[in-house]
Amino acid sequence: MKPNKNETRNVALKRIDYLYNLMNSESVVPKSEIVKQIEKLSVRFDITLSKNIKRSYCKNCKYPYEHNYRLRIKKGKVLVTCLNCNNIRRFDISH
Ligand SMILES: [Zn+2]
Repeated sequence: MKPNKNETRNVALKRIDYLYNLMNSESVVPKSEIVKQIEKLSVRFDITLSKNIKRSYCKNCKYPYEHNYRLRIKKGKVLVTCLNCNNIRRFDISH
């Protein structure tokens, strides 16, 4: 029997959750690889990643923001500079 779509999607969601936790722990897997896997799953299963996940890594080099980033606040926006690739992202300050 084929698993139905929702079940497969739920498995993918759980997998993303697991990978996200892995990304925040000491891991032997390169973290940029974990991020790539998360993105792959979200594209394949049409899953919108939560804000937490989306804001936890650099979209350019797929490297998680850990110690290698700089935060600036400018005109009500948060500017995050990735010190790995110098990519700058802007976020609204969430209330
Ligand atoms: Zn980067």
